Amino acid sequence: MDLIVASNNKGKIKEYKDILEPLGFTIFSQSEKNINIEVEENGTTFEENAILKAQAIYERLHTAVISDDSGLEVEALNNEPGIYSARYKGIQSDEGKRKEILKELENIDNRKAKFTCCICYIDEFGNKNLFKGIWNGNIAFKEEGTNGFGYDPIFISEEANGMTTACMPDKFKETYSHRAKAVNQLLDFLKK
Ligand code: IMP
Repeated sequence: MDLIVASNNKGKIKEYKDILEPLGFTIFSQSEKNINIEVEENGTTFEENAILKAQAIYERLHTAVISDDSGLEVEALNNEPGIYSARYKGIQSDEGKRKEILKELENIDNRKAKFTCCICYIDEFGNKNLFKGIWNGNIAFKEEGTNGFGYDPIFISEEANGMTTACMPDKFKETYSHRAKAVNQLLDFLKK
């Protein structure tokens, strides 16, 4: 089954390919389908933004599509960056955003954080379903590792024995992450 992921984020697309292609899905990014739209993510929740992104692609192609709205919430920063994770404080580079969070958490003991992933799946008939995964952890005191993308070099998940996600093999994230959890719910739904 072909599935379009309403995103051009290389890190996300790789994770969807790694999880879903061995199961028989063929994953396409937006640009692989020549869709060059930048959806305005003006929702107030991950769910609303996921719907906006999936809907925009569905309206163009009328084929099955999934979108992924995800982000990092840091407890001591009033759960920021949250839905603004892609452009936290107007900073675009992943490295710049990580540095900003580490700077804001200087001398703060509470390092609790969580990743959320909300997937909106729209089938070829236009039916819409939402799936949500959460991954709890802490923010590291310094960056470590080169695997993954985004905030992975500063996120230490509960299962990771003090190592950042960027230090772990791909399989680790495919098993425990917010995205893996949301995808597993999607798969259970598709099997029914
Ligand atoms: P979105 O494209 O609006 O959903 O933005 C998501 C942003 O959250 C990404 O650009 C990353 O900065 C961050 N993010 C989401 N998922 C992950 C992840 O699995 N690892 C690291 N950063 C992530």
